[in-house]
Amino acid sequence: MRIVLIGFRGTGKTAVGRLLSKRLGIPLLDTDDLIETREGRSISEIFHSGGEIYFRKIEKEVITNLPEAGVVISTGGGAVLDPVNVEHLRAKSFVFFLSAEPDTIIRRIQKSKRPPLTNLPFPEEVRHLLEIRRLEYLKVADYCLDTTRTEVSAIADTVQKILEGKNISCEQVSKEYQEKIALSSEDLAVLSQENTPNGGYPRICAVMGNPASHSKSPALFNRLFTHYRLPYKYIRMEAPEVSNLLIFARLCDFRGLSVTLPFKQQVIPYLNEVDRTAQQIGAVNTIVQCGNLMHGFNTDWLGIQRPLVHLKGSKVAVIGAGGAAAAAVYACLTLDMQVTILNRTIERGQSLAERFGCVSASIAEFKNLKPEVVINATPVGMFPDTNTPVLVEMLTQDMTIFDLVYTPPETPFLQAAAKIGCTTIPGMEMFLHQAREQFLLFTGISAPEALVRELMP
Ligand code: NAP
Repeated sequence: MRIVLIGFRGTGKTAVGRLLSKRLGIPLLDTDDLIETREGRSISEIFHSGGEIYFRKIEKEVITNLPEAGVVISTGGGAVLDPVNVEHLRAKSFVFFLSAEPDTIIRRIQKSKRPPLTNLPFPEEVRHLLEIRRLEYLKVADYCLDTTRTEVSAIADTVQKILEGKNISCEQVSKEYQEKIALSSEDLAVLSQENTPNGGYPRICAVMGNPASHSKSPALFNRLFTHYRLPYKYIRMEAPEVSNLLIFARLCDFRGLSVTLPFKQQVIPYLNEVDRTAQQIGAVNTIVQCGNLMHGFNTDWLGIQRPLVHLKGSKVAVIGAGGAAAAAVYACLTLDMQVTILNRTIERGQSLAERFGCVSASIAEFKNLKPEVVINATPVGMFPDTNTPVLVEMLTQDMTIFDLVYTPPETPFLQAAAKIGCTTIPGMEMFLHQAREQFLLFTGISAPEALVRELMP
């Protein structure tokens, strides 16, 4: 395994890297130093003659050729902006994101001779770059350590503890929570693993719901982790109380959570930060934990948007007014579609329509609407239910029917629609695309769609 340090300049990567290298008796490779050695000139000179594009090209080549084990690697601040770099840096590595408050960074690097990357004055440039890179660092990190008020030696101590598997005792926590949270014996064994062959615990991600037994996420994510050689395991946990699941995930320092029914709204007050899109939709289906802070996101809407991009501007009926319907409406509006929400409880449909500035009606209005796209965002048709959300006689063959229900994969609604000659999109498409986005948030790796399809359970 390798230790990789990422983060902005002035966050202590070099100092922490040097100390770890000394204590562990392994070399420190600083990618900026490697670039300067390779080019025989300083970073400033490289920027001056070749610009940032040339610098990033050389940086990528250097990162691609880093040794696979037994080193501490300190990366340049912008290295993680390139997806190819991310894939190389993540393989068989523990990635530590070192952060610091903007004022601290500005103070630490104000005498640096590095070339500017923007036309902004120095302090504004730092704040601007921190803002745009923050999410990238968050995604790529296995662990996040704030160096603002912590000595270099204490940061190095924490890194070593993590590597030795002494930072958490999830085995003990699991025992305390066994009455409150349902975990399979296999998943309990994962949490009790004292030392993996690599040293340290595997990083844990989990689906949390009530129930969570139907979720296909554990199978898919574990295959993706193996494919990308990440020291991660994905488990499944079920409980009636959302608070117990989140406290457990905090105590065990889980890296990521997929949130499923009925918790997508309930988790929000417990999170430290919720991104703007998730706030607008009013639901979180993805939580990334970084340095004890929980960040909430929504990837469901992308799972609905991706299969519909070619139908931009269409007239769409969204049936339902719950969390999945909110994500569907948000997705459709990003595609300039004309949205009508049809819901069993009229007032709930109206309130969702008001939130997004679209129209609503009763489900009976479907026959007058003549939509080009129909999205079922209700559980109607989910096994063992054999009903359809609207009468199939009202469908016409020019319609595209997207059923978000994915158990069974071919729902009664999709079967009836296919018989009529409609274009059908199964709920597994939503699952696939939202999971791909979730994997990106958990790891920083953008897995190709074809790979995710191949690994789908
Ligand atoms: P939710 O918040 O509980 O909302 C359910 C909606 O369905 C409500 O608007 C409800 O209407 C309506 N509804 C429930 N039973 C109905 C019935 N018998 N007839 C007509 N309408 C009915 O649930 P959700 O989170 O939005 O999830 C909805 C469905 O989306 C789930 O069942 C799941 O299958 C699917 N989903 C799929 C994926 C995927 O990856 N493919 C991801 C998320 C969700 P009222 O307002 O009248 O109660």
